[in-house]
Amino acid sequence: MTTIAFIGLGHMGTPMSRNLLRGGHRVLGFDLSADALQALSQAGGQAATSIAHAVGQADVVITMVPTGTHVRQVYEGEAGILAHARPGALLIDSSTIDVESSRLVHDLAAQQGFDMVDAPVSGAVPAAEAARLVFMVGGTAAAFERAEPILQHMGSSVVHVGAAGSGQSMKACNNMMAGMSAITLSETLALARRLGLDEQKVYDVMTHASGNCWMLQSYCPVPGPVPGAPSNRDYAPGFAMSLMLKDMRLAQAAARTVGYETPFAARATQMYEAAVAEGHGGRDFSYMYKIVSGE
Ligand code: NAD
Repeated sequence: MTTIAFIGLGHMGTPMSRNLLRGGHRVLGFDLSADALQALSQAGGQAATSIAHAVGQADVVITMVPTGTHVRQVYEGEAGILAHARPGALLIDSSTIDVESSRLVHDLAAQQGFDMVDAPVSGAVPAAEAARLVFMVGGTAAAFERAEPILQHMGSSVVHVGAAGSGQSMKACNNMMAGMSAITLSETLALARRLGLDEQKVYDVMTHASGNCWMLQSYCPVPGPVPGAPSNRDYAPGFAMSLMLKDMRLAQAAARTVGYETPFAARATQMYEAAVAEGHGGRDFSYMYKIVSGE
């Protein structure tokens, strides 16, 4: 049994920490929300009173907070993880954040002798609940070896993608692709409709032809062909438009760090910005079909 401190018990952190408890580990959780702490206690975990309290007893520290600013807040300073973690503790950040903040926290951890990985995830709340997240892990081989058995309790795939910050780079690239794909596919499906093609026939042909992609096959933005897709429940998320905007912006920031221009992704980011500004931030990102098609 490993003692794990879990910081950030939100939509994702709560089901992830439950799976660690199911795996037989001791979980000490900390969150700013009293409700989140109560949910952890009810699931058999222990509610900590501070970050120091949680990490002071832990062999492994996992963070799952919203942004790079939050990650720096929980790691740095007198009340932070780096000041209170036990020597030799393994640090895992599963938040989706910018590559620069991730590398900075890695550097601070390394300076204090801690093994650390960035391990952002693909898969939303249902995948977190079912322990079917995909982890993209950045860090040294030694840190990955330590992190892998812990992450296995929460995911179906755990891949070491490279050095510190590489998990965030991978996540930015994956979500940039998904974000663009939602738009290009929507445009294609809207044209097919205007040309008088039946949606199911378009689905049946394209999923076996060169136009196939994950967005069409598993997450079709037009109601009908994929029963479990958000398009069949009036675009309730799923993965919210506002979160996709956050990830598109992270990909743009990552591109800037290497001086590479991504004009398609830049245009797609503008379209997500407009969608959120028009009040669609809480809808699933596949609502982009409605916007693009004008239906
Ligand atoms: P969330 O907002 O539901 O949860 C974040 C939690 O962090 C909140 O409970 C908040 O109180 C807590 N928190 C913030 N600052 C804190 C601090 N200083 N100390 C302790 N707790 C603090 O967010 P979420 O949906 O669980 O997402 C977490 C991360 O996972 C984000 O980076 C997100 O982009 C990423 N992600 C989310 C999804 C999804 O579908 N929700 C999917 C993949 C990745």
